[in-house]
Amino acid sequence: MRLTVLGKSPSWQDADGACSGYLLEEDGTTVLLDCGNGVFSKLRRYRDYTKVDAVVISHLHADHFLDLVPFSYALTYAPRQQSVPVDRWPGTDTPARPQLYAPRGATEVFRRVVGAWGNEDLIDNAFEISEFEPDSVLEIGSMRFRFRHVPHFTETFAIDIVSMNGGGRITYGADCSPNEGLVEFARDTDLLIVEATLPRPERTGIRGHLTPMEAAEHACKANVKHVLLTHVSDELDELWVRSCAKRAFPGPISVAHEGAVYET
Ligand SMILES: [Zn+2]
Ligand SMILES: [Zn+2]
Repeated sequence: MRLTVLGKSPSWQDADGACSGYLLEEDGTTVLLDCGNGVFSKLRRYRDYTKVDAVVISHLHADHFLDLVPFSYALTYAPRQQSVPVDRWPGTDTPARPQLYAPRGATEVFRRVVGAWGNEDLIDNAFEISEFEPDSVLEIGSMRFRFRHVPHFTETFAIDIVSMNGGGRITYGADCSPNEGLVEFARDTDLLIVEATLPRPERTGIRGHLTPMEAAEHACKANVKHVLLTHVSDELDELWVRSCAKRAFPGPISVAHEGAVYET
């Protein structure tokens, strides 16, 4: 499988950046994992958005789904999606309508978001929406997706993707506080994408995120082959992030950048 980082910012975007969005590709199948604010523009930079087969959403925070709004507008109004010729586009009888897999309750949340300005059906009409359950298994092309609850401020799923063609395994921790469930879920994976949001643990309230060192501890306990630290603001020093992680994980450590590509 090939993973391309489209966006890696936390809930506020880096300068010129995008929030969470990762492109997974294998044997002609393209899946977008999360679609936070800024991701649609980055998707357009790297790929043709009408060629995306499916979008999978880890949880219903803005920085993980908000660009479903411009993505839906494109699928609805772009000249190339129309049935009649428009300008240089010849017209199509088969406009793109990607699958959209999201947690339970997502359809209602999407309707409320775009309903704020009277467009309730926008996302429903643009995508083929399916809500997944914790025990759902999705097969999209040659990739098999499984889910696991992780602790965060809203219902959130870590996602494990296995190539059924022997093309490796990627585990995505989504957003989470320290937890053993992710360690178990990611055990022996080829690439663990894990958030390393916090410069220090939350001082008050319930925890919802990880520090770079905690992220690396999860990677170490899970015996992963390679860890990709993400959801880190450009307002933190990347070298500091890496050195914190090195103290807890002896294997290869990457810090996510837009456009970075990883193969398993
Ligand atoms: Zn979140
Ligand atoms: Zn987030």
